[in-house]
Amino acid sequence: MTTRTPLMAGNWKMNLDHHQATHTVQKLAWTLKDARHDFAAVEVCVLPPFTDLRSVQTLVDADKLELVYGAQDVSAHASGAYTGEISPLFLAKLGVTYVAVGHSERREYHNESDELINAKVKSALGAGIIPILCVGEVLDVRKAGEHVPHTLAQLDGALAGLTAEQVKTIVVAYEPVWAIGTGETATPEDAQELAAAIRTRIGELYDAETADAVRVLYGGSVKSSNVASIMAKPDVDGALVGGASLDPEEFAAIARYK
Ligand code: PEP
Repeated sequence: MTTRTPLMAGNWKMNLDHHQATHTVQKLAWTLKDARHDFAAVEVCVLPPFTDLRSVQTLVDADKLELVYGAQDVSAHASGAYTGEISPLFLAKLGVTYVAVGHSERREYHNESDELINAKVKSALGAGIIPILCVGEVLDVRKAGEHVPHTLAQLDGALAGLTAEQVKTIVVAYEPVWAIGTGETATPEDAQELAAAIRTRIGELYDAETADAVRVLYGGSVKSSNVASIMAKPDVDGALVGGASLDPEEFAAIARYK
């Protein structure tokens, strides 16, 4: 059985300019250092806006910080006439490790389809960046009892055409949309239900080894006060944290859930 290293990823969304980003990353790094955080035991990642990435890279390199960083989105294309898009090659040059793909806010406000998300997953992987693939249902779908098939259909669409070797490297974040930014957290049992369903599905699409290797995160109003009970579930390998990741002390406490 694979040992999956837990990942705590902080999605800053459209918050914190590059000055604020520098301050926040420094504070996060100092807090974790003071607590003697073992980064090999729990990986810590921030996902700042694109315009902050160069500043974060400079800081991480200069201070040899162990935390890693990523982006919140990526183009499905490597280069060309795609005004406003950001190439995965540019992100790779900035040293990003992860990129969120298919966040519910991208699906909702930018009409991102499963086909586009699939293309973005491939585009990230092609540049050596690990996608954090976000899936999850809206409230009406949950109320109708369709949350498992709905989420698995998003997963199927996003993974289409990928090899087992590629899938082993990716991270899937189960984020029930009704729990994002609402203060409404899914129960640890809800998180486990979908994390297990996602892993089982990957086993069906690929094999047991691939299913065992993939890290599945939970996202939706995670805080230091609820993270431990969610992390106690066997198929949950970390959290995608929005609002609470803007406070470096709170995010450090989340990373230190053990
Ligand atoms: C998110 O943006 O992915 C998220 C989970 O946000 P929040 O933690 O604020 O619910």
